[in-house]
Amino acid sequence: MLNKKTIEDIDVSGKKVIVRVDFNVPLDENGNITDDKRIVGALPTIKYLIAHKAKTILVSHLGRPKNGPEEKFSMKPTAKRLSELIGQEVIMASDVIGEDAKTKAAALKEGQVLMLENVRFHKEETSKDPEVARAFAKELASMAEIYVNDAFGTAHRAHASTAVIAEFLPAVCGYLIKKEIEFMGGALSNPERPFVAILGGSKVSDKIKVIDNLIDKVDTLIIGGGMAYTFFKAKGYNIGTSIVEEDRVELAKELMAKADAKGVKLLLPVDNMVAKEFKNDSERKVVASNAIEDGWMGLDIGTETIRIFSDTIKNAKTVIWNGPMGVFEMPNFAVGTKEVAKALAESGALTIVGGGDSAAAVEQMGYAEKISHVSTGGGASLEFLEGKTLPGIDALMDK
Ligand code: AMP
Repeated sequence: MLNKKTIEDIDVSGKKVIVRVDFNVPLDENGNITDDKRIVGALPTIKYLIAHKAKTILVSHLGRPKNGPEEKFSMKPTAKRLSELIGQEVIMASDVIGEDAKTKAAALKEGQVLMLENVRFHKEETSKDPEVARAFAKELASMAEIYVNDAFGTAHRAHASTAVIAEFLPAVCGYLIKKEIEFMGGALSNPERPFVAILGGSKVSDKIKVIDNLIDKVDTLIIGGGMAYTFFKAKGYNIGTSIVEEDRVELAKELMAKADAKGVKLLLPVDNMVAKEFKNDSERKVVASNAIEDGWMGLDIGTETIRIFSDTIKNAKTVIWNGPMGVFEMPNFAVGTKEVAKALAESGALTIVGGGDSAAAVEQMGYAEKISHVSTGGGASLEFLEGKTLPGIDALMDK
């Protein structure tokens, strides 16, 4: 399935290897890392490089610095955390392509690790001018002999350090990207059936391309969350004050017709937890989907829906989930999302959670360990599910 070369397909021994990682970690106001999952995610690649005597140069972005170098966006805390995780020093450069970075890169010994400063301290990194991006990528490339991309979270961006740099060096993927492609790509191209996709979240408009692409591939498409109400409207139901995209009602009709024509079962909620107000402690009750009264809004899927969705998930062989089933930030409307997460965790199927809110939900609820693959990329996994080619993966050498 994976037709791209990986670090195992190239001799890294004694070579300077520049690795694009996604160390865009959340920091508190004191600059402490509050969640090191992204650093941990890159460990298999980094450990492989150390064990195979490479001279590793790590490059990442963190946050969105707008005006060049700023201490609060420094990669220093990530270098420190990585050093704790691998039990060896991580040398920190004070710039990205400046004298300090170049001197330290040139002096690297086998098995040593160097972390460059935040690549977005240079606006060239994200420049839309191809020549500007190329010139910067070439500078980065000049420090190394091999390029490894292991930053799935930015693989959907054609930036200097995520894609353009591959023009100048032999380019392969690391273990994190390999795993993402194998799970998500494998499910999309050759799923064990029944193949069920479950989509939620607030808007149809954000997920049109995902729905459209998945209708061509799945046996059952489950739609929950806020976007279900645009489909209800398309079916002529009263939706009260539920969230709706009026300008997507026609599209919802077309998507339902497409599913029908393709023989794909499209499951919408049969009942909903509705509330008077958009508040956790609002008055609430469960009503059938065709019985939502004026003045009430649907904020979660209902009990019968939870049963139907859970059964469908448990009887599947492959499940992909993206997007919460309700306003899961409020505990009273998090039940549907929680139960879907539980059904995935208890299913014997190959289960994939595609980034963003649903990934956060399975982690919060402690189910992440029981899911076959929780994608590390929000936007990137969505674009993958849309069937798009991700520039950061496309740029790598074919097998
Ligand atoms: P998205 O960013 O499109 O994945 O959507 C996630 C957001 O959808 C979360 O913040 C949820 O609170 C919200 N959401 C889910 N269901 C509903 C609903 N029934 N009404 C309003 N917002 C919802």
